[in-house]
Amino acid sequence: MILKILKAFLDFFFPPLCFGCLKITNNENLCFSCLQKIFSQPIIVNKKIKIYALGYFNIPFNNLIYEFKYHHRLFLKEIFAKALSNIIINDYYLKNCDYLVPVPLHKAKIRERGYNQSEILAKEISKIVNKDVLNCLIRKKNTKSQTKLKGEKRIENVKNAFIFDNRYNIKDKRIILIDDVMTTGATLESCAEVLLENNAKEVFGLVIAVG
Ligand SMILES: [Zn+2]
Repeated sequence: MILKILKAFLDFFFPPLCFGCLKITNNENLCFSCLQKIFSQPIIVNKKIKIYALGYFNIPFNNLIYEFKYHHRLFLKEIFAKALSNIIINDYYLKNCDYLVPVPLHKAKIRERGYNQSEILAKEISKIVNKDVLNCLIRKKNTKSQTKLKGEKRIENVKNAFIFDNRYNIKDKRIILIDDVMTTGATLESCAEVLLENNAKEVFGLVIAVG
């Protein structure tokens, strides 16, 4: 009872803010409008591979990805995974894919952050869509953050950054690459190239947002 009164008191003076748009919300964590944006029609970008995204890298996705990536807000992994799984289930090509492959981080970065956000997403999606996660890519170069680089430099930065782990066999398999954000697409293209060189049949990309 006292806790309830205390909570009402706190909510009145410090109303809960939506993690997406930072406005006051009656919902827990996310307001209705931000939830609607997360679960709306996907964006499809055609690079060397077809890439699907929940939205563009602005509100609410920029704030939410930051919270997911650097503050480890776990409620977000469930929401993102649900929305990304909806895209897979409703798309003819993605539905027929065999594996989910997260874009890997370099071991130095995992040590620094403690986890690979793309792998966390892939595992969560895997539970819903019933496709296995395959960690068959290795990041051998500890590349600079793509967000700090421009165009050509980005392509150069990720060139030859990934190698295939030969313990896996992906011959004739269809693969969905999972990442949090696509900027120029150079990272996903570089990963796709390695998978196709190793006899994957088709590769698609699936991300939270495109920048
Ligand atoms: Zn909101």
